[in-house]
Amino acid sequence: MIEIDILGCGEAFDPDRANAAVLVTVEGFRLLIDCGMGVPQAVWQRSDAADFIDAVYFTHLHVDHCGGLPALIDHMGARGRTKTLVIYGPDAELARVNAAVAFAAWPNPNPAFPIDILPKTPLTRIGPMQARVAQTEHAATNHALRLEFGAVSFFYSGDGRPTDASRALMTGATLAFHEAQSPSRFAPVEGHCDFDTVAALLDAQQIGTLWLYHTAARSDAAFLGRLKTMGEPRLHYAVAGLKLLIR
Ligand SMILES: [Zn+2]
Ligand SMILES: [Zn+2]
Repeated sequence: MIEIDILGCGEAFDPDRANAAVLVTVEGFRLLIDCGMGVPQAVWQRSDAADFIDAVYFTHLHVDHCGGLPALIDHMGARGRTKTLVIYGPDAELARVNAAVAFAAWPNPNPAFPIDILPKTPLTRIGPMQARVAQTEHAATNHALRLEFGAVSFFYSGDGRPTDASRALMTGATLAFHEAQSPSRFAPVEGHCDFDTVAALLDAQQIGTLWLYHTAARSDAAFLGRLKTMGEPRLHYAVAGLKLLIR
C-alpha cells in the first residue's frame, strides 16, 4: 500500500493555497515530493518530529517547488535531527540545492545532521519503493516520478506538458497526479498543462484514477464545473488535506 497525503495543490503565486506537494508514505518511510511556499507548515501540522521526513524529491527547482527547503531543514536541525536526510535534485542543478542547505544552516557552515544530495538519474529506488523518472516539457528541467510498491503504482508529473517519455512513465499507473494549470485547452498557459490534455490521458495511458493539481488560483469553480459536465468517475480535483490509499 502507498499512502498519499496531499499537502498543497496551489500554483506558483497562489494567494490562498500551499504550493503543490504530496507526502508519500510506504511502510513508515516518508518521501516529500516538492517543498514550496506553505509546505513546511503543512508538514509541521502533521508532525513536529525531527525525523518525520526521510527523503525529499524535487520535480524541478522553480521556487514554488523548492523555496520551502531552508525552513524545513532549519526545523529538523532545531528539533535535534541526527538521521541522514536524502534529497534528490536535478542532476545539473545540485549546486542550487547545496546553496539552499547552506542558507538554512547559517550562521553555521552546515546543518548539524547529515544530508545526502543525490542526482535523479539514474534512479531505481527511493526507500522501499521502485522509482523511475521522465522529463516533461517545462521551462525548467522537470522530471515526473513513478513510484511502485508491490502491485500498485503512483505517478506524479511535476510541472509541464506530457512528453512521449512521461506518457510512457505514467502508462498503467494505479493512481496519477497531473499538473493542470489551465481549466481549458482554449486558454493555454505556456509551459503548463490543461484540463482537456490531462483528462485525455486517462484512456490514452490507461490510468486507474487521475487527480488534477497545481491548478490556476481561484478557479475551483471552473475546474469543478468541467468535472461535473464530464461526469468521469476516474477524474478528480485534488484538495489539500485529502489522504489517498493506493492498494
Ligand atoms: Zn510550479
Ligand atoms: Zn515550474
